[in-house]
Amino acid sequence: MLEMLYPSAYLPDVFSIDYPKLQALGYQGVLFDIDNTLVHHGDDATPEIEHLFVYLHSLGLKTLLFSDNSRQRVERFNRNIGAPFLDEVGKPDPAAYRKAASMLGLTESQVVCVGDQIFKDILGANRCGMASILVDFIRLPDEKHFGKRRAAEKILLWFYRKNRRCYNRLSVAR
Ligand SMILES: [Mg+2]
Repeated sequence: MLEMLYPSAYLPDVFSIDYPKLQALGYQGVLFDIDNTLVHHGDDATPEIEHLFVYLHSLGLKTLLFSDNSRQRVERFNRNIGAPFLDEVGKPDPAAYRKAASMLGLTESQVVCVGDQIFKDILGANRCGMASILVDFIRLPDEKHFGKRRAAEKILLWFYRKNRRCYNRLSVAR
């Protein structure tokens, strides 16, 4: 049962993903969670993140911002990126993931979801058979207090690392 919570791959951050390799494996679209995945919660896109999207689009990969946050927040983040997006998606509802894939004109098996939360980003992707990449959540240097969900994630990741069949079964580290 734990496998429903395991990502296809676990990497430090969105810059550690080998996107051309992802493409070579047949993936044509990437759904990105925003908060604590691309930037710290609530922050605007950084120049590095904007460059990342330019790069992904130059490869021919389709992208979609996939967030539980408000439309206003997503639109502000997306100002210089111009990606299609879905706000207040209600992760981990698999219907939202299917909707995202169809917005890109792709099937769930052609899309990978990238996020920082196992119980939202990853679980929802697994529920509809979509590949997923977990990244470490972005935290400020002085941020020390974490909730119960982060503690549970830490335990799950311990089991995940021990599972040879599941751990990084999608081999897309740069
Ligand atoms: Mg997040």
